[in-house]
Amino acid sequence: MRACVIRGIGELDQVEIAELPAPRSGRNLGAREVRVAVHAAALNHLDLFVVRGLPVDYTFPHVLGSDGAGVVDGVGAEVTAVRPGEPVLINPGVSCYACEFCRAGEHALCVSYQVLGEHRPGTMAEYVVVPEANVARMPRLDPPLTWPEAAAFSLATLTAWRMVVTRAKVRPGEWVLVWGIGGGVALMAMRIAKLRGARVIVTSSSDAKLAEAKKLGADVTLNHRTQKVAQEVRALTDKRGVDVVVENVGDATWEESLRALAKGGRLVTCGATTGPKVVTDVRRLFWNQYTIMGSTMGNEAEYRETVRVLGEGHLRPHVDRVYPLAEARTALERLQQSEQLGKVVVRVKD
Ligand SMILES: [Zn+2]
Repeated sequence: MRACVIRGIGELDQVEIAELPAPRSGRNLGAREVRVAVHAAALNHLDLFVVRGLPVDYTFPHVLGSDGAGVVDGVGAEVTAVRPGEPVLINPGVSCYACEFCRAGEHALCVSYQVLGEHRPGTMAEYVVVPEANVARMPRLDPPLTWPEAAAFSLATLTAWRMVVTRAKVRPGEWVLVWGIGGGVALMAMRIAKLRGARVIVTSSSDAKLAEAKKLGADVTLNHRTQKVAQEVRALTDKRGVDVVVENVGDATWEESLRALAKGGRLVTCGATTGPKVVTDVRRLFWNQYTIMGSTMGNEAEYRETVRVLGEGHLRPHVDRVYPLAEARTALERLQQSEQLGKVVVRVKD
């Protein structure tokens, strides 16, 4: 099968298209495994981190890609959720279903949590094998979801859902600040916060992206290159500040995020794209009674909920651009340059 792989850790010049043996199928599948013929795979910042090297045991050539959608191509003996021929979305987070956290329903806290394209072969290949629990039947929408839209759904939506709904518990009428609206998680966080009835302020360094975000539902847009975000937020909220900040930037924005929070505010973060070490003035933290929360991926119930909401016609992914598999490296370059708004997708099947 054709797949987008790396043969070593480094920069994007490590990325190539290779011919690999297809993964197990038919009777060789585990009892609860499903093989999916991938139609499209969507990119995430995680793919760039994987290329540069994460503390996991890679087996080279390593297949990239966490997000994907396709058609079930084979099922293990005990699989009941899906049948061959059914179109499915893939949840990239694989849990053990046996540890303390899994048994409590917190699959993203699994002690042996794995992510497709990081700890396991990824979705940027003609076939991928995943546990039955990791596929969801593609909802029927009108107009129908395209393969790129389907591929773009899972990781960003699941991550943003847990941040906004489960962790920050955004309520109607609250003010929410979302940094860097070009990113897939940020854009989905904005849309989920809007769905929850919040008022959302978004930032970007690109006026073009801000104009697009406005069309997609942002209430207020700020250019963080030319405007002082916390100061603008204070002015917009009658000096009060926002109830919730959605962060995935880290070092470059952290102090500004804390300055933008209202008393009793919540900051939720799922990333540190500009650097992991941040400065927190503890006096500001306790005096204003802030809550700082980490969040990553999501559990199975949250995933099923996002798919249900998609089935109701909400949160249809915003696809930035689609590339053929042969141009996967160019697609990754677009992500690396932060040129996108929404999801960059690779079409695996022509
Ligand atoms: Zn577990």
